[in-house]
Amino acid sequence: MEVLKKVAIIGSGVCGAYLAYSLAVKYEVYVFEKARGLGGRSASKRQGETSFDYGVSYFSIHDSDLKSFLTDSLFHENIELVDRKVVKLDRNDKEISGNRILVSEGTASKNVESGVWEQSTEALFVSKPYGNSFAKALLKDIKNIFLETRIQGVVKKSVVGSGLLQQNLQDDFKYKLILENAAEFDVDFDIIISTAPAAQSAAIYANYDDLVKGLSTVKYNPAFVLMFSLKQAAAVFSSPAVSESISKIRDADILKIKNSIIEEIIFNHKKPLRDSNTPAFVIKASKSFTENNLEMEHALIEEALLNEFFSIMGFDSDSIPELGFKHLHRWLYSTPSNTVKEYADLRPRNLNDRNMISREDNSESLFLKAENEEIYAVGDYILGSLGVEASLLSARALARILCV
Ligand SMILES: Cc1cc2nc3c(=O)[nH]c(=O)nc-3n(C[C@H](O)[C@H](O)[C@H](O)COP(=O)(O)OP(=O)(O)OC[C@H]3O[C@@H](n4cnc5c(N)ncnc54)[C@H](O)[C@@H]3O)c2cc1C
Repeated sequence: MEVLKKVAIIGSGVCGAYLAYSLAVKYEVYVFEKARGLGGRSASKRQGETSFDYGVSYFSIHDSDLKSFLTDSLFHENIELVDRKVVKLDRNDKEISGNRILVSEGTASKNVESGVWEQSTEALFVSKPYGNSFAKALLKDIKNIFLETRIQGVVKKSVVGSGLLQQNLQDDFKYKLILENAAEFDVDFDIIISTAPAAQSAAIYANYDDLVKGLSTVKYNPAFVLMFSLKQAAAVFSSPAVSESISKIRDADILKIKNSIIEEIIFNHKKPLRDSNTPAFVIKASKSFTENNLEMEHALIEEALLNEFFSIMGFDSDSIPELGFKHLHRWLYSTPSNTVKEYADLRPRNLNDRNMISREDNSESLFLKAENEEIYAVGDYILGSLGVEASLLSARALARILCV
């Protein structure tokens, strides 16, 4: 019987899940996740029948192969491409009925940067019934998943004389994962892949200077995310007495806001397979508000965000609906702030051909590799701000090479 090589994947977000799914055809795959649940930044919190996706909410995919992969019938229960009403508004000029909004259906030419307001329909992917359901679907056939298992480091061990078949030089060495209590995980690995955010991967790969050098230059934006539900039914948003601009805002699936302490409001209850009767919102605070208040008392952050939310939604102070559940989450690593351009110089050099691949023509690397080792780092930070798509492209590039 053929003995499969063993791969350790650190992290169970979309990147780790995609790799596990893809590599399982050729390798014995082990997944290690420090959290209690799967999904990483495609995180979701449940409160009774109501749920909140407080990491990635919707995402777009431009790559046609990836798009076909995601729309494959294999995953139709857990991922869907949906048309969403996206309303963009600017809070700079609050005098005009609180918010100004421009309806520009069907036109892509409006320039938001110049202060124009718009409403559009975007086709976006959404995981269902929860934010982490897609990652879970990818991982469903992986037997070796270790939750609440934080990897501290990697060491290389010689296995000469252990009776293992020596086919080439690389078979003389295996990798061991170091756990939190400094013990070694009891499996010899041939390949190690970290999908943890760059700073966490740098800590895991502390013994590999070339990786640390690249990884430690990546910076992430922190983000406050407030999730809450209302006690009233969703009908509270369809009051006929509100102005036209307010009803457009209340009718949105996603609000993107400029010049406000809130950057984005997601109407979570409008996503597929959610409890549509209970209004459930996920608010992402603006970058500057988060950075300036990172250590602020959470109750004050919540109050500021809720006041701004109800003002945007056109509620007077005496008509504010009663809150149900409420929770503030502080992400230290939400999205990478480095761009691919800044990152280009850090890509591995002197790689042999099988390590060269790119988004379009397979000629440029989309992952990092320790020199002369089977140790890799993949994630959204390779391509900058593309989010889930960046993670999937990075994972796919490595999966293609390892599955040759
Ligand atoms: C608030 C927010 C909003 C976002 N909005 C969007 C959006 O609108 N569109 C979009 O495309 N993207 C968005 N993103 C970014 C998107 O979530 C990420 O790009 C994507 O989920 C990254 O997936 P990943 O698998 O690469 O990393 P992660 O999901 O971060 O997975 C890494 C995993 O590694 C685990 N890990 C870390 N260290 C260790 C260790 N030592 N041992 C074991 N496990 C470890 C972590 O627990 C985590 O589960 C958003 C992110 C946040 C936080």
